[in-house]
Amino acid sequence: MKYYSTNKIAGSVDFKEATIRGQAPDKGLYFPEIIPFVDKDLISNIDSYTNEEIAFRIIAPYVGNGIPEDRLWEIVKETVNFEIPLVKVNDTISSLELFHGPTLAFKDVGARFMSRCLGYFVQGDSRKVTVLVATSGDTGGAVANGFYNVEGVEVVILYPSGKVSPVQEKQLTTPGKNIHALEVQGTFDDCQQMVKQAFADKELTDKLFLTSANSINVARWLPQQFYYFYAFKQWEQKNNPPVISVPSGNFGNICAGILAMQSGLPVKHFIAACNVNDIVSEYLQTQELQPKEAVATLSNAMDVGNPSNFVRILEIFKHQFPLLKNKLSAYTITDAETVSTIREVYEKYNYILDPHGAVGFLSLHRYLFDHPGQTGLFLETAHPVKFPEAVESSIGKRIEMPVAVRSLMDKEKQSELIKADYQQFKDYLLK
Ligand SMILES: *Cc1c(COP(=O)(O)O)cnc(C)c1O
Repeated sequence: MKYYSTNKIAGSVDFKEATIRGQAPDKGLYFPEIIPFVDKDLISNIDSYTNEEIAFRIIAPYVGNGIPEDRLWEIVKETVNFEIPLVKVNDTISSLELFHGPTLAFKDVGARFMSRCLGYFVQGDSRKVTVLVATSGDTGGAVANGFYNVEGVEVVILYPSGKVSPVQEKQLTTPGKNIHALEVQGTFDDCQQMVKQAFADKELTDKLFLTSANSINVARWLPQQFYYFYAFKQWEQKNNPPVISVPSGNFGNICAGILAMQSGLPVKHFIAACNVNDIVSEYLQTQELQPKEAVATLSNAMDVGNPSNFVRILEIFKHQFPLLKNKLSAYTITDAETVSTIREVYEKYNYILDPHGAVGFLSLHRYLFDHPGQTGLFLETAHPVKFPEAVESSIGKRIEMPVAVRSLMDKEKQSELIKADYQQFKDYLLK
């Protein structure tokens, strides 16, 4: 499989090259030249396939011969070695729980797959790869966990001091070994800016082999298709496919779902569930994509003012607005609505949502209200325990910590405090 850049200037590359580079040199995103169609039997007899088999069949055409089959099997097995259950919340709405992985968020799937692919690609290379990540919370933990102990790879995570939740902070500061956390006295944007500057710094890139693990990397993006197939496997009415609502920020997750649909997965409609960072809802009304400054909300992993993966959605629909509009709707949910949804869903159905899942639930609820007779599911992208303040104040009681989190909270934070100062960051990398 070859990947072209969405900016159409840089040349096409294979899966290995796209994974190592992350972004194309012309600043475009890599996109597969062909969208492979899945075997019909995989859809009509999906019950008879294991999750590993499904994952392998989905991803193999994208990887091509970049990774030998037996190694790819191992990678896939390790990627999906936790449960991804579809749980009924009420008569018409189910929750696809993507938070049973090691860091309790859907990003585990992409991070685990990418880390293992990169680990394979740098094997035998004399230079170590340094992965730089700026995080507002969930990415850091998933990347730290995914890359922990992967040989030949050092990971440096920058996070804004005091702006990630306690569980998130522990997840990214406690692994140790090849995982290094920098606590930056600044905002997420400062962290991201410093990472960008590092990639553009020739003195640095001459000395270090730098790459990024952000969500535009094809090796993080593509495996996110797996769980859309797992949802269908567990979906009871196979001849009445689900409407799928995806809490969206950078739009990588929903874009993977749309790609799965283009490959043959039955889906009735997609909903981009957004908080007040509503660039895409506006686009669907005006056909103009107008980036804005991100606004802070309770669903902070979706506080994105310029969703980088949206261009891939345009690419899937060949930039034809009517085709896109036919398959995709968007909703904008406020923090007040997020809080009342968490409370109402708990009171009515005894189900505890996290703030991102609440945005997904309410968006779906609204869509189904306007489209009677349809049923659907939303992606519950994180465990509520990662956002205890918002959730506990909404439902009026404490939420129980999973065992894995309790032992994590006892571990000691290891991080280096730095100013939002590029020179200080650079010195750190060079030493
Ligand atoms: C990252 C994240 C999102 C947004 O996913 P995108 O792929 O960026 O749209 C939603 N919910 C949670 C909990 C996340 O961590």
